Amino acid sequence: MAVVGSGPAGFYTAAILLRSEDLEVHVDMIEKLPTPWGLVRSGVAPDHPKIKTVSAAFARTADHERFRFMGNVEIGRDVTRAELLERYDAVVYSVGAQSDNRLGIPGDDLPGSMASTAFVGWYNGHPEFRDLDPDLNVERAVVIGAGNVALDVARMLVTDVDELATTDTANHALDVLRAGKVKEVVIVARRGPLQGAFTTPELRELPDLEGVDIVLDPADFAGIDPEDITAGGHTVRTNMEALHRILAEHPPTGKPRRMVFRFAHSPISLLAGPDGRVAGIELGSNDLVKDESGTVKARDNGGRETLECGLVVRAVGYRALPLPDVPFDDKRAVIPNEGGRVIGGEREYVAGWIKRGPSGVIGTNRKDGQQTAEAVLADLTTAGVDRAEADIEAVGEFLHERSSQLVTETDWRIIDGVEVAAGKPEGRPRVKLCTVEELLAAARG
Ligand code: FAD
Repeated sequence: MAVVGSGPAGFYTAAILLRSEDLEVHVDMIEKLPTPWGLVRSGVAPDHPKIKTVSAAFARTADHERFRFMGNVEIGRDVTRAELLERYDAVVYSVGAQSDNRLGIPGDDLPGSMASTAFVGWYNGHPEFRDLDPDLNVERAVVIGAGNVALDVARMLVTDVDELATTDTANHALDVLRAGKVKEVVIVARRGPLQGAFTTPELRELPDLEGVDIVLDPADFAGIDPEDITAGGHTVRTNMEALHRILAEHPPTGKPRRMVFRFAHSPISLLAGPDGRVAGIELGSNDLVKDESGTVKARDNGGRETLECGLVVRAVGYRALPLPDVPFDDKRAVIPNEGGRVIGGEREYVAGWIKRGPSGVIGTNRKDGQQTAEAVLADLTTAGVDRAEADIEAVGEFLHERSSQLVTETDWRIIDGVEVAAGKPEGRPRVKLCTVEELLAAARG
């Protein structure tokens, strides 16, 4: 069977399929990039190397004798849905969410305004964003959003570059960050501290950022009802503790760089300078009001101010894109499914962000993948499929023909070895190869 997409969801699903004692499942993992691991390689922030060690578990799955990695093959570009269905007993789509939500305000498309998908991909060496080349020759950057991706982007912009140089941050990004002059990053959140989608460890670590003041406005915390904190649950409580600790124990002391939180503000428009690039952002202030269901909403109270800035990164959610000919729910931006079985599909399944939307941490995809794998195994058992070795070889040859240069698991291990070896002398986990050409050349040895 085929698993399309080699992120956490694909790997967790594959692991369960391969573990089946009743069926001898063969898994071809088809991936558009020459590299596996999805957002573990190209999303997770480089200064969080421990999180990336989950890839060791994925590598163990890839070691299985009935597993094949088929990298540099894109469904929709190199192979169609019909061709997959002709050749496989079942197809799992675990292609993640490849695009982003827009701000939908004037100036959204100005040079200097970009999506976190692009910015994150750029510093993480994703080949599609290698040439983004953001202008960091600016003193203030603004990040829109109140989640961990916003925090990742903000941290990357103010962290000491010498520290980043010990991580797997892409070399081209290190060069630009080193030459840049960002002194302040403003994180703009529509609602208040209670409604932020941050997780607590990410807030707790902020005061450890060398040379960076964390700037919170006590007024944002003044009117918070303790009952709302209790009602918010565990993460809200621990987030508030972390933020209060920053307020109480880590006041700004005039450090060289600043991370400033602006709660209860929304972007109204991005303003262009004489060169046509982003030169400022108009912010509107919000009142926080509870609707009938008790949900806190941001209501524009008419207050306006303009902040000068040369870079705006929107981190307001990822969005999945449809795969050609595969059913897609445009409103929810997911492949419609029931427990992982594609609605309107034919022996097709989904896992991960394309199944449930772009939320949840890496571990969330484990349970999600398990549900999908169990559906696949139940259906395959009912259908009573039994593939001949020749069929498995034939489909391998077919994918080889379709790819400009298919990257097998052996090829990927060579690439991996090259990257890791390049990192060793510098004390880094790896030095990433960041174009498809470089990756393929490394695979060729
Ligand atoms: P992805 O990881 O996106 O994998 C999808 C894969 O499918 C990719 O490899 C892609 O190249 C491939 N693909 C796409 N289209 C095609 C196609 N047409 N043909 C073939 N292949 C295709 N979680 C944590 O636990 N800790 C963190 O620190 C953390 N940091 C994050 C930082 C960022 C910036 C982001 C965006 C997410 C972060 N997450 C983190 C969340 C975590 O990365 C996701 O939960 C997880 O990656 C989703 O898994 P997935 O397999 O659904 O998608």
